Amino acid sequence: MTYNQDLLIREKRHPEKQKNPDRPMGKKPAWIRAKAPVGDTYKETKSIVSDMKLTTVCEEAGCPNIGECWEKKHATFMIMGEICTRACSFCNVATGKPDELDKYEPLRVGVAVEKMGLDHVVITAVDRDDLADGGARHWVKTIEAIRFKAPETTVEILPGDFKGDMAAIDEVAEAKPDVFNHNLETVPRLYPTIRPGARFFRSLRLLERVKDIDPNIFTKSGLMVGLGETKEEIGQVMDDLRAAKVDFITIGQYLQPTPKHAPVDRFWTPEEFKSLEKMARAKGFLMVSATPLTRSSYHAGDDFKRLREARLKQLNKLG
Ligand code: SF4
Repeated sequence: MTYNQDLLIREKRHPEKQKNPDRPMGKKPAWIRAKAPVGDTYKETKSIVSDMKLTTVCEEAGCPNIGECWEKKHATFMIMGEICTRACSFCNVATGKPDELDKYEPLRVGVAVEKMGLDHVVITAVDRDDLADGGARHWVKTIEAIRFKAPETTVEILPGDFKGDMAAIDEVAEAKPDVFNHNLETVPRLYPTIRPGARFFRSLRLLERVKDIDPNIFTKSGLMVGLGETKEEIGQVMDDLRAAKVDFITIGQYLQPTPKHAPVDRFWTPEEFKSLEKMARAKGFLMVSATPLTRSSYHAGDDFKRLREARLKQLNKLG
């Protein structure tokens, strides 16, 4: 259990959700199976994260893949604190008034990446709508610290939408992460209930803008299914993402973190995920990951290598 989980009881983590009626969480189907966190490398990862006083989304979001990922030394760091200014109805990260930014955090992330000897690192953040630049400068410092401490490591970032502030988006894109990942999460019809603080087309515009700034940066976006969307709506979102030149789509099953969160409408079967994958490939994404346990940072290192190979292949074909 993390410091955050110890200190903040569920009501404190999600004060805005306490008015919601309890929604039974039901039984997960047999195909939602995750590896238990037990191995030595898992413990080593946990101790580096805790020694460096870092936060991970793996723990904060209660990700089911933590046993598998941490055993491979793959953790997703979450910067700018443990408290988010938004209150999305699917998300287990605590909501409230965040702390001041920690100016030493970028360097600690850089040192942790160096210590862990990572080929590829994924960094995400809470939404910081309280900051004038949405945390853009902190993002840049973090990317620079990783480049300084671990120059061989490729960097994937997963920021929020900066409330559509183009100057902030440009600043972060100009720091040239290898992958700029921003999740649309769900179909536009469900935004008012699932992602009320966000706007579908604002997020889409962000992804398009990154490509305008630097077409060499890989762009990536993720969707959760099981919130009430239809396959046709997902197909439309895929078209929107391709129109914004997004390279890589991830699709995974939504899992309800607590009875106060949005309920699971249904569990998509592994066969249905295969069919979503086929549909995404047909629409021209360079890379697709669509399985029940897919998360935007799941297998991100291996996927990055494949992404690079896929682009080379495409360029050779064109050449
Ligand atoms: S899938 Fe991502 S969030 Fe989940 S444990 Fe792995 S690295 Fe962490």
